[in-house]
Amino acid sequence: MDAEQLRESAHKMVDFIADYYKSIEKFPVLSQVEPGYLRKLLPDSAPYHPEPLQDILNDVATTILPGVTHWQSPNYFAYYPSNSSIAGFLGEMLSAGINIVGFSWVTSPAATELEMIVLDWLAKLLKLPEDFLSKGQGGGVIQGTASEAVLVVLLAARDRVLRRAGKSALEKLVVYASDQTHSCIQKACQIAGIHAENCKALTTDSATNFALSPEVLADAISRDAASGLIPFFLCATVGTTSSTAVDPLAALGRIAKSNAVWFHIDAAYAGSACICPEYRHYIDGVEEADSFNMNAHKWFLTNFDCSVLWVKVCTYLLTSSFRTHIMQPKIFNSLHDVVTATFYVIACVPCQSSVSRKAFKILDRSALIQSLSTSPEFLKNKASEGNLVVDYKDWQIPLGRRFRSLKLWMVLRLYGLENLQRYIRNHIQLAEIFEEFLKQDSRFEVVTPRLFSLVCFRLRPLNCDLNSCNKLNHDLLEAVNATGRIFISHTVLSGRYILRFAVGAPLTEERHINAAWKVLQDEASSLLELL
Ligand code: PLP
Repeated sequence: MDAEQLRESAHKMVDFIADYYKSIEKFPVLSQVEPGYLRKLLPDSAPYHPEPLQDILNDVATTILPGVTHWQSPNYFAYYPSNSSIAGFLGEMLSAGINIVGFSWVTSPAATELEMIVLDWLAKLLKLPEDFLSKGQGGGVIQGTASEAVLVVLLAARDRVLRRAGKSALEKLVVYASDQTHSCIQKACQIAGIHAENCKALTTDSATNFALSPEVLADAISRDAASGLIPFFLCATVGTTSSTAVDPLAALGRIAKSNAVWFHIDAAYAGSACICPEYRHYIDGVEEADSFNMNAHKWFLTNFDCSVLWVKVCTYLLTSSFRTHIMQPKIFNSLHDVVTATFYVIACVPCQSSVSRKAFKILDRSALIQSLSTSPEFLKNKASEGNLVVDYKDWQIPLGRRFRSLKLWMVLRLYGLENLQRYIRNHIQLAEIFEEFLKQDSRFEVVTPRLFSLVCFRLRPLNCDLNSCNKLNHDLLEAVNATGRIFISHTVLSGRYILRFAVGAPLTEERHINAAWKVLQDEASSLLELL
């Protein structure tokens, strides 16, 4: 590594990226290449001799960028956003520059400690309960994706219950989510060895705006428990992927708690909005949760990847050991609330003191750590052995980990809460403008209530039956995306093909919403003329 060569090359690269952003609107938002296009353009094998950076940048421009779908384009409205920002970019740069592998505290104390501090900061911005802060028994950890966040807490919950019920109980374990929960829960179940039929996607419908009904959950749990199954994990969502439905956290959480079910909240997209006081109520009930995740890399100006997971372990740590050592499982189920309350008083309260906290150190965040911890000889060190530190390797699937907290730290410091709130509010206002356009055009309908910056809508001409209406909207999506001028995506709700318009790219302004609406109107008019 020659520092001067780095300076020169990195300047070139920054220029290239800055130019990319300057001209980003010139590219078709959705890449228009055919599968296999790149193999035809690149050589069969790696070069023997080094090549100049400029040649490579030229190839990026001519061969790579055509195959890029421009997530940072202001005309990108598909799926959910994946924000980049100057702060996030600088943080990534710094992280790449320092390039540590911070799996244990000792491998770079700053990486672990900054992560703990920054996640405490963010937890406070979200007004998460104190139990999620690192100074207690809980704490936050940065995962690569929400899928990993859900997987690690599912593994922790599974192992917690198997420690009590025995490994052979695996086939009886039941996970609850709704039919709107992201497919990552299904993948987590597959990896965790949960039987496919025991990963229950409880039905939702338009009556609850696709939120999970507490009655449906309670019924399912009691039916399953009565038939000898073991309910153990509930994943609720704040801002579902299809339509931003918000599950009723408080009611679901109470049901989970009274059935000794681990309660996880996935707020991958909408969690970011909850830094604004007017949207914070969407996570009311988070006090009932054992774990909570949001993706800072979606809508929080933090370059991919940065999915934040908090766990709150005191209750579980203590009630689970209590349950294992003192209570019989059958008695525990019926007395759970009383036990939890009593045990909080006799065990959780004293464990807040620094002396007892130290004594409990190995058990803190224990469910996660007990599932994921390994301690091979070659990783042993004084700080870890002395239980003086957090070793994030025990909170995640891989061993190695990047210094991802740097970019979140940069985002929080360079923008401040004030600008972050403004950013979220601006996108929501832009989504409102788009929603208003739809309401003014009788050919369209808004399908679900818009809560954040996603608008779900469809074309619905008169006398259009379900199938032809679905086909019409599918054709509209294809036509709009083929223009390359905007990119939107779709979902299906109650058998209806729905178009999704998600505002959230950092560069999007009102003029882009106006232009997007024009594209949609024009393409809709062309299609309707053919009917
Ligand atoms: N959960 C929700 C609610 C999501 O919307 C998504 C992705 O859009 C995910 C989980 C999965 O996110 P990731 O790609 O970070 O695993």
